[in-house]
Amino acid sequence: MFMILITSHCVEAAAFFKNPKVELALDSNVLYTISDKPTLTGEELWVDDPSRLPRQTHQYLHFKVSVHNELEKLVPVWFSIGFPAMKVLVVTDGVSVWETGDDSPYSTRPVNAPNYHFPSILSPSSETEFRGYMQGEILRYTFTLGTPEYFNQRYVKTLQRDMAFFGAMALLTALCLVGFITSRNWVFLSFAAFIFSTTFWFFRVFGYAFEILWPSSPYLNDISYALSIYAVLLSAFWVLLQSLAKEGHSVYGAKHIKRFCLLVPFAGLLLWQTLGLDLALRLPVLLFFPFIITAGIVIYVEHKRGSDRAKWLAAAMAPVTFSTLVLTIIALFNVDLYLEPIATFMTGIVLTCLFMVSLTANYMVKVVQRERDTQKRAAKLRSEQTSKLEALVKERTKALEDTNKTLADIASKDSLTNLPNRRTLDLFVDNTFTHGNEEDEVLAVALIDLDHFKSINDTFGHDIGDEVLKTIAELLSPLNNDKQVAARYGGEEFAIVQRYPAYQKTLNDDLDAFAAQLNDVHANINALRIEALQGRTIGASFGWTLCESSSDIVCAFRRADKALYTAKDKGRNVIIKAF
Ligand code: GH3
Ligand code: MG
Ligand code: MG
Repeated sequence: MFMILITSHCVEAAAFFKNPKVELALDSNVLYTISDKPTLTGEELWVDDPSRLPRQTHQYLHFKVSVHNELEKLVPVWFSIGFPAMKVLVVTDGVSVWETGDDSPYSTRPVNAPNYHFPSILSPSSETEFRGYMQGEILRYTFTLGTPEYFNQRYVKTLQRDMAFFGAMALLTALCLVGFITSRNWVFLSFAAFIFSTTFWFFRVFGYAFEILWPSSPYLNDISYALSIYAVLLSAFWVLLQSLAKEGHSVYGAKHIKRFCLLVPFAGLLLWQTLGLDLALRLPVLLFFPFIITAGIVIYVEHKRGSDRAKWLAAAMAPVTFSTLVLTIIALFNVDLYLEPIATFMTGIVLTCLFMVSLTANYMVKVVQRERDTQKRAAKLRSEQTSKLEALVKERTKALEDTNKTLADIASKDSLTNLPNRRTLDLFVDNTFTHGNEEDEVLAVALIDLDHFKSINDTFGHDIGDEVLKTIAELLSPLNNDKQVAARYGGEEFAIVQRYPAYQKTLNDDLDAFAAQLNDVHANINALRIEALQGRTIGASFGWTLCESSSDIVCAFRRADKALYTAKDKGRNVIIKAF
């Protein structure tokens, strides 16, 4: 516990330090002056409001503040400056001197970025004056005094907050990458780029790593800062365009935005080379305003055009917009808001990223669902069509089979009498000798020719002749089976062919039976009484023989024919067997 009295104006300030866990604000007690050189002549006018002093960036802003230690003991303190100029900062307590870029751990910003802390010891019951100067672009500055314990606690808290932020951002980046790899949706990759560049930027803002990695190259630090902040801006535009993109539809203003994005880095480079790094670094920060306005306009127009994603994107943008506004208001106008600027901005960024990622994930889930539904419907339709097709094929196959059967019938049967035709007879003969053992097969061949048929035609007409042929066919038809064919052989000629296995012991009996069958047929023909023939009977001459091998078949038919002629010669209506 220590007591401090600030000599300039504020006597009540002592009350703050009754509690060493708070810091003592010195802003209202600091006096300022401006000079062209770092050293003072002693004739300068000191004021308590530096805004009354017009200053160029090459000029030096001097400051001084005295602190009185009322206690009768040494009090260790840290004199702290928040957001000072980055270029030149020199501070002294009358004993030590610190400069930016010094190797001292407190000379840059490792403790509580972006503050500079200068350790000092207040002598008992005496006054200590802190004074110094800065040069370059000065965003804003606050002067405070605190105990080392206080700043250490703040350091730990800030570290915890920063690590939570970086952890969340790393997780979101990983999620977006997984989203991109699984869905090949570019929105996820644009998010990943945006979140990564934002994280990188914050990493730089807080002074982590970079100061340690490149302590002697402030340009590299500044370039990494500039790069990251440009990357944030450009990837934010990419997110905007990708989120609103649809197939066959160009997002409002996309062309100009892309051109602008190409231009910005060059503008930054130009600014750096002409007006200096401080301004170049400020440019992207300032560009956040046009970005938010452009994003607002694009989202609004797309919403009006019927985009279902626009309003959700607007909702996602809300946290980062709000926190950017807070940050800018605090930075530009030095307003004392209850909200902690960086923490508010971090929270805004994380919320926006989280919202956008879940939004896109939800959209992807819907797309996948729709795709699955379509596939299901297509599969159902396919199976319906398949069964319809199968039924049709079955029907057609049956029709085809029927047609084939009809065609086979037509090809194998005689159209007038419906008896097997000559072709069928030839096939029967051929099959006998091809399928069976040729040596063992025997055929009995009989040819029948109706007697004086021409005169039936002449007397009763061709139609009656046809009727006679059909009646004869009815007689012969029952003789057909797998061992025997009774066919129409020609005009009014018929043939009966029967086959036997030659080794059969009963061959002779079978031939007798064949002869008996011929006798029966002959008798039946003679016995026919057809009304139209007016009592006239029908006579038929038979000639028959045996064929014992395939080589004999032509001769066998010739022999039967010859026998038939013999029958005709013998006065017709008889059966003659040829040997
Ligand atoms: P033959 O006793 O010598 O056999 O005397 P035929 O009159 O029967 O003489 P041939 O065998 O030469 O005459 C066959 C006749 O059969 C000639 C033809 O008009 C007749 N014919 C042939 N095919 C058909 C047919 O499909 N329908 C009718 N109605 N007549 C036919
Ligand atoms: Mg004839
Ligand atoms: Mg005849």
